[in-house]
Amino acid sequence: MEIESTNPQIDLDSLSGFKSELRSLFRQMGDDPDREGLRDTPKRYLNFLAEFISPPAFNFTTFENEGADDMIAQTEIPFYSLCEHHLAPFFGVAAVGYIPKGRIVGLSKLARTVGHFAGRLQNQERITKQIADLLEEKLKPEGVAVVLRARHLCVEMRGVKAAGTVTTTSRMNGAFFDNPTARAEFLSLIK
Ligand code: ZN
Repeated sequence: MEIESTNPQIDLDSLSGFKSELRSLFRQMGDDPDREGLRDTPKRYLNFLAEFISPPAFNFTTFENEGADDMIAQTEIPFYSLCEHHLAPFFGVAAVGYIPKGRIVGLSKLARTVGHFAGRLQNQERITKQIADLLEEKLKPEGVAVVLRARHLCVEMRGVKAAGTVTTTSRMNGAFFDNPTARAEFLSLIK
């Protein structure tokens, strides 16, 4: 089954007002919006956003598990997202695991799933839940575990300026929730 990019396209031509507002902002920041380095920055920024919110569609290909019913996990999956409160980047690594019950998914699709949900205006808690929910829905497994560890630039560059702070979110469903041994096995992989 294909996971379509659910994100809308940005109509760059309709945003000329935004581009001129950005130029005003640069001026108020004491800079010259016409200097070489800044001249095309409003356009580049919109292109950057347009690319960021358009992760490619992909097929969530599943296969018969042929008796494999032990935990399958991938760790250190890198992801990049934008915080919906500040439009500041947050980024880190995801660990995704599941215990199959009938179906398994192509291994590359776990990283694709992470990228699919990270590529929009987000908070970390929601990405974590959306990844778990999709695996739950598509695989109907014995259990799903998702842990995200990320650095948030809105926390590190402003406000409390807590540089190097790592935020961890997790979701443990099914066997990973009910069975401490399964949970401990998963968590031991991400130490
Ligand atoms: Zn933020």
